[in-house]
Amino acid sequence: MLVEAEGNSATYASKAGLFTIDGVAASGLAGDVLLIQPREQRAERLIRATSPHNTLLVTERCDQLCVMCSQPPKKTHVDRFALFEEACMLAPENMLIGITGGEPTLYRHQLFDLIERIYRTRPDLSFHVLTNAQHFENDDIDRMLGPAYARVSWGIPLYASQSALHDEIVGKRGAFSQLLENFAILMRAGARIELRTVLLRGNYPALPELAHFVASRLRCIEAWSIMQLEHSGFARRRWASLAVNPRLDFAPLREAMDWSFLHQMPVQLFNIPRCALPEDYRRFAVASISDWKQKFLSACDGCRERDLCCGFFEWHPDQDECAKVTPL
Ligand code: SF4
Repeated sequence: MLVEAEGNSATYASKAGLFTIDGVAASGLAGDVLLIQPREQRAERLIRATSPHNTLLVTERCDQLCVMCSQPPKKTHVDRFALFEEACMLAPENMLIGITGGEPTLYRHQLFDLIERIYRTRPDLSFHVLTNAQHFENDDIDRMLGPAYARVSWGIPLYASQSALHDEIVGKRGAFSQLLENFAILMRAGARIELRTVLLRGNYPALPELAHFVASRLRCIEAWSIMQLEHSGFARRRWASLAVNPRLDFAPLREAMDWSFLHQMPVQLFNIPRCALPEDYRRFAVASISDWKQKFLSACDGCRERDLCCGFFEWHPDQDECAKVTPL
């Protein structure tokens, strides 16, 4: 309970006593869910009430090592499932909550428990789980046919239709064939799947082939999100060798999108500014960058499509070739 607010400082009363949070006004915390760790003198905001982009990082462990990973994995794991469950229970009504890692399904039974327990008390909430889909098993199908999973969509990366190329990108031999096996499990479980493909120099020329593969083999997906690389994690220091700029070379993306559109596949573009796309393709661009990590450049001032545009990640270098914008 808030007992005092002054400038960028707010004091609250709790069962464990009084605590003060500095650096943010009380109004900026209203309705949020915070984890307070008094011994560490730390407050961590788990849920922002006013943001549509809330994500819980359930583990930093991963069994893949993607060349462009934005959140390079760690070997250690701190189990915070119980805390996340409490946070979800306190979330605003009808919120969509992201679950990410590392690889969340390394702890899939705990993840399933969390989803099901929350559904029993808060059926209004829904989840989007980012997963490499390497760890589902046939035994999961019955469980995943339960009503809780109608509130869950699974964001699953697929980088190429060639197994060697996909495996090379994710740094795991056999990942592609495991993924295909597990797509079959997920489809039998009626899982809602969002396919995700990051554009890289390595897979960009093969994108049209991937579109053919998706349209013929993965027709039941809910969405195919094709996305621009994020300038963070491993990609930051490998940017020159990994990044593609659709503004300068749109041909593979055009071909993939045309094929998807022709076959009525639900394709969408993430993290690509609208001015980097030909006009006919801008309707596929989603304002995908979370509000708290989004920026626009000074040249964007006056752009008439700014409100619809994803802009750039806050940490994207202004001098990068991809950041040469042309206001619309
Ligand atoms: S000029 Fe800026 S706001 Fe306009 S489309 Fe380009 S990146 Fe987006």
